Amino acid sequence: VEVLTGLSVQELEDRLEALGVERWRAKPILHWVYRRGASSFGEMTDLSLALREELPRHFQVLRSSVAESRPGPDGTVKHLVMLPGGDVVETVMIPEEDRRTVCISTQVGCPMRCVFCASGLSGLKRNLEAPEIVEQVLHALRGLGPEGRISNVVVMGIGEPLLNAANLIRALRTLKASWGMGIGYRRITLSTVGVIGQLPELVRQDVTPNLAVSLHAPDDSIRAEVVPTMKNVRIADLVKAAVEYRQATGKEVTFEYVILEGINDEKRHALELGKKLKGKKVKVNVIPFNRVEELPYRAPSTEKVDRFVAALGSCGVPVTVRKRKGDAVSAACGQLRARFTAKAGAG
Ligand code: SF4
Repeated sequence: VEVLTGLSVQELEDRLEALGVERWRAKPILHWVYRRGASSFGEMTDLSLALREELPRHFQVLRSSVAESRPGPDGTVKHLVMLPGGDVVETVMIPEEDRRTVCISTQVGCPMRCVFCASGLSGLKRNLEAPEIVEQVLHALRGLGPEGRISNVVVMGIGEPLLNAANLIRALRTLKASWGMGIGYRRITLSTVGVIGQLPELVRQDVTPNLAVSLHAPDDSIRAEVVPTMKNVRIADLVKAAVEYRQATGKEVTFEYVILEGINDEKRHALELGKKLKGKKVKVNVIPFNRVEELPYRAPSTEKVDRFVAALGSCGVPVTVRKRKGDAVSAACGQLRARFTAKAGAG
């Protein structure tokens, strides 16, 4: 039994033809799945009864399910998505004025071990399959009800997406496709801690979302402390790769910078970063660290954050600090989760 969310429209057409079913039926079936949020063939009321009985013998619509949905403050909703085998991943729907943004995960656990992130503590369990990535967006859509629309996707949940590039690429194609969810790459943002070797592959495959690079440091030695698994990638090379990606795709490039008190929060850090990014047509998104129980790092004071932002801005680098709801959209990976659990006051 194959899962529909793992097939392209051409693949489904081929499968149907092999079963003696007309090829043209593939598109309306996928429309039910991706636009109308159907989770079973039984819901596809314009299919003949015979097909509604026959198709489940060969296909399942979804392979994951929502174990629990927790509404948070500001209208955010965290879905705990249950995968076959019992693993659970988190998907967060973030409503803003005219947007409905979904933050999706790409791995169960994460191997990157960023020091400020609780998700990195226990390491990687496994990569998600392409359908498991796609279905997170579908569950968020279904959670919005029949009139719901997802406008944006951020690949900023748990895991390093570019360590799971093949599944990610397949999933993003489905999210973008006219037969899929129809979410263009300008409305999708991919966050990486710096697996830059995969960026030319994205360009080559013509899968080109906006890019967010989790930098978190103004120089290589601080970065080695904050993101120890990436200590072999120099900041100069990260910036170069990101700029090349922007030039090749015309998409937005943002550097994410989590401010940790006493580590990377000084004015001189901001000036050094500013010097490296000036004139590169990239933005910086500053994320003041939010305390996580099991970690020894502290949140910076508002004055420190203001001083950092002003110094960076004085270098001519566009910089944002998102407050309230926007926090979540721009937060990095496990930092996002930390914020949500802290805000929701739950585990
Ligand atoms: S911040 Fe993201 S990349 Fe870093 S350990 Fe956490 S989940 Fe992994």
